[in-house]
Amino acid sequence: MNCKYFKTRKKDNKKERRIYNYCTINRKEITYDNCKKCNKCEIKIKTPMKKRSRKLNMKENNRYSIIYQDLTKCAECGSKIGIEKNEVFEGAYRQTSIKFGMVVPFCKKHHRHFHNDIIFNLKYKVIFQKQFMKNHSLEDFIGIFKQDYIYLLNKRKRG
Ligand SMILES: [Zn+2]
Repeated sequence: MNCKYFKTRKKDNKKERRIYNYCTINRKEITYDNCKKCNKCEIKIKTPMKKRSRKLNMKENNRYSIIYQDLTKCAECGSKIGIEKNEVFEGAYRQTSIKFGMVVPFCKKHHRHFHNDIIFNLKYKVIFQKQFMKNHSLEDFIGIFKQDYIYLLNKRKRG
């Protein structure tokens, strides 16, 4: 709860034993829903947005790719319109992708394709895994990205 007047209290006596919510401005019990509707407390403390560090922004702006020299051109179709730089390994591996230059430029259409088509997605992961393995071992790759995408793509293709 973001309201600073919204407290959780505990009744623990002979008659009652329960946990309830209490509003210190209305001086009475309140439910979570009623607190949300109430506008007496103009100071609803908002959960502060986590500020992105300057260092992180720098890193993201300086994204490079170990494969694509020109990051303003879609890797798939060569279009120069609406290009976004995508980390090849998403989620928990986003920052690691940036660190190792696992970045691919896509137009809007192929960006969507990348997220919706598993084979297309794996195809790019494999391209980058192979490039990475020119200077590192498979064990190195799996140590960092926890998967062998070459194996995964082959498995998919075999059905
Ligand atoms: Zn494209």
